[in-house]
Amino acid sequence: MKDQNFLKENNARQLWHPMGAPADIRANAPTIITSAEGVKITDIDGHSVVDAVGGLWCVNLGYSNNVVKDAIAKQLYDLPYYSAFAGSTNPPAIEAAYAVQEMFAEDGVERVFFTSGGSDSVETTLRLARQYHRLRGEPTRTKFLSLKKGYHGTHFGGASVNGNARFRTAYEPLLAGCFHLPSPYTYRNPYNETDPAKLAQNIAAAMEDEIAFQDPKTIAAFIMEPIQGAGGVIVPDASFMKLMRDICDRHGILLISDEVITGFGRTGDWSGARHWGVKPDMMSMAKGITSGYFPVGAALISGKVAEVFEGAGSEGGIYHGYTYSAHPVGAAAVTATISETLRLDTKTNAAARGKQLHEGILKLAEKHDIIGDVRGGHGLMHGIEIVSDKAAKTPMDAASMKRIHTAAYQAGAMVRLGMHNILMSPPLTITEAEVQVILDALDAGFSAV
Ligand code: PMP
Repeated sequence: MKDQNFLKENNARQLWHPMGAPADIRANAPTIITSAEGVKITDIDGHSVVDAVGGLWCVNLGYSNNVVKDAIAKQLYDLPYYSAFAGSTNPPAIEAAYAVQEMFAEDGVERVFFTSGGSDSVETTLRLARQYHRLRGEPTRTKFLSLKKGYHGTHFGGASVNGNARFRTAYEPLLAGCFHLPSPYTYRNPYNETDPAKLAQNIAAAMEDEIAFQDPKTIAAFIMEPIQGAGGVIVPDASFMKLMRDICDRHGILLISDEVITGFGRTGDWSGARHWGVKPDMMSMAKGITSGYFPVGAALISGKVAEVFEGAGSEGGIYHGYTYSAHPVGAAAVTATISETLRLDTKTNAAARGKQLHEGILKLAEKHDIIGDVRGGHGLMHGIEIVSDKAAKTPMDAASMKRIHTAAYQAGAMVRLGMHNILMSPPLTITEAEVQVILDALDAGFSAV
């Protein structure tokens, strides 16, 4: 590695970063993280903190899982790459698909299509949804429905179903035929409805209305996150996903559950859909599938969808995929991550530590008036909405948010800012004492404004 001076001087010089303006990033150079252990990360100046972000909602096993690291290292020496395009495959890919299907069999998953990450996985489910209807003799079903505030990655398909202008506007025109419904966001919604169950009913009615307006025979799929992540950790009522499932079924629309964050234990169950008692038609996965140790994603396919492709002979050809689909090193990481995830039963710890963190944040909300809304309570996914005026729900300004972030970091925890929200998704292996470190750091952060 180059010396510290080189790194600091060149930080933000050649490298363009995702999700920020190059000029802003130059003016305010990113923190350089140099090492990590357990759930702690250390920066270039030697300051260590609990990583309440889990990398980017992905380091579910923490940073020190040697079983996964050894599996990756060994595979690099055995076979660093071979393609899985139709004519060839590799042993780790076969094993990884077996492990993934077994883990999600309870969700109705029968087939696995590997990708290089979350955006790829979303794109795969959207494209397969259109092809599914075409193979069934309904080629007019091409449109997609999704939720405002949803995040589905940054490919053109995913950006088109995204529910936040920030990820859409600069890249328009997007995919035609994508329509958005209100988010199950009780703190702010067009109905001024604060009761989550009633809000779920309102959105269900809006969905019925939109489907009738579009004509059900033109809609391929509805995509949603079981808990909206990047949009601010928006937790719907327990009835919500079931209502959506029911509407999709009545109109022949596929339900895609975007589980890129919620998959692999984050909600306190192995999938977010299972958490809500729903079986989707397809799921998009990434992040926790390798705990972030290697870039891998997957589209998971139910029996209902699989049988249409498999019953169509050569017509069912999937002319879609990536050079790194079923990459042997990634696949070895998947199998090892699943085995460690099950051995450590991370979902159970996620539920217990998530409850502790959520209750701790609720206590902080009694003390700090700037906390407008506290969202979480289902595993280790937490959103705190910060306001400058609680009655008017005025979003806190960016400079104050930055002050909160810096003070929390100095006090021992890395949190993530999403506009005026604090977002957290620590490793699922976190301990009770480490959760307390996050709570104390948040307290210090809030006290700074
Ligand atoms: N879907 C969801 C729900 C996500 O949270 C994300 C990433 N945070 C994506 C898709 C895109 O994944 P990636 O960044 O790996 O492309």
